[in-house]
Amino acid sequence: LPEEFLTARPIIDTIEAAGFEAYYVGGSVRDTLLGLPIHDVDIATSAYPEEVKGLFKRTVDTGIEHGTVMILDHGTGYETTTFRTESGYQDYRRPDAVQFVRSLKEDLKRRDFTINALALKTDGTVIDYFDGLRDLEQHQIRAVGNPEDRFNEDALRMMRAVRFASQLNFKIDDQTVAGIAHHGQLLTKIAVERIHVEFVKLLQGQWPAKGLNVFLDTGLYQYCPGFADQKAALVTLAEHLKTGLSNETAVWTAIATAFQLSTSQLGKLLKSWKSANQLITDSQTALTAVQAILADQVDDWLLYQTGSALIGIANEVAQVFEPAHYETSALQQQYDQLPIKTKKALQVTGQDLMQAGIKPGPDLGKSLQYLERQVVTGQVANESVTLVAAALAYLN
Ligand code: ATP
Ligand code: MG
Repeated sequence: LPEEFLTARPIIDTIEAAGFEAYYVGGSVRDTLLGLPIHDVDIATSAYPEEVKGLFKRTVDTGIEHGTVMILDHGTGYETTTFRTESGYQDYRRPDAVQFVRSLKEDLKRRDFTINALALKTDGTVIDYFDGLRDLEQHQIRAVGNPEDRFNEDALRMMRAVRFASQLNFKIDDQTVAGIAHHGQLLTKIAVERIHVEFVKLLQGQWPAKGLNVFLDTGLYQYCPGFADQKAALVTLAEHLKTGLSNETAVWTAIATAFQLSTSQLGKLLKSWKSANQLITDSQTALTAVQAILADQVDDWLLYQTGSALIGIANEVAQVFEPAHYETSALQQQYDQLPIKTKKALQVTGQDLMQAGIKPGPDLGKSLQYLERQVVTGQVANESVTLVAAALAYLN
């Protein structure tokens, strides 16, 4: 078993010693069986939350109403969740009630896909009630139980299916695909923020076309904000994306490039996806750089405004659509040689300019902007005396 499971083992041992059951469950079991690295170890137990809390000195109620308690052990937190069933789902996204149960099988039954419904014992035994091992071997994503019902219960699962296809290079089983095709519209019941998380993971997965093709063929894309009229652009993107994009800024910059959006259209799209302001401004900056790269119009001023991190992202996105116009290393080198990287590095302040007789107000702001551009583009040396003289000459 991987290191992460071994360090979590004392937790399971303690729960078992008290007469309860406890297993490793979820993505870490799936990824271990696939030989992939794992992130978070999830533990499922027959002990009720209060019983779990009674067994350990330090716990945090991270999701007590769903049965999740975090156990703190030597600086690491382990999430344990009591076996539960869910019922209701009147809003297509959240169970009306969760019911704690003592049966592992009941808990595994409420999980989304068979490959996510495996449990692992500390001795390495895998418990597999729904043929998850067969599906892992056959590289397929299949809903636990009837896909139609499962997507009706929770529509986010449709996005999770396409996201796992992209991350794992798995096919989605036919009935599960049919369920997505029938229930796509239910996605509109789901909070956009949660769809956003899955969509970004989809485009970051190593085999994005695998997920994108089902996302497109089933019509699921139509129920994502701003996508309904963009089928052709999404198909083109799926054809061009040979592997995952490196972060969420790259994802949205690639979308904007595929959709041929202006920066302000991208801003609107990202707002409709309830994006953070930082993501919006970064994606807009990267988009401007992609447009310059594809038009072979990169210059020092563009690199300065883009900044080192976004230059890499922009060139990554540009190369999705067209063979390299520029090597990223060449762009980075050109950036590194800029006389200044930020406005702060300018060897003159507003104060200095006022002392030289420039009046506060529009003239002052305009001259500072002028100097910044002149220095970045190598036309004026970054020395205070030269800068003051250049400002005065500019205003004359
Ligand atoms: P990742 O590697 O992205 O974390 P994961 O499979 O661990 O993948 P999580 O969102 O961390 O995904 O969820 C942990 C487990 O909880 C899943 O493996 C699955 O068993 C269950 N699960 C998560 N979301 C749902 C859902 N919407 N419906 C049913 N079961 C779910
Ligand atoms: Mg997980």
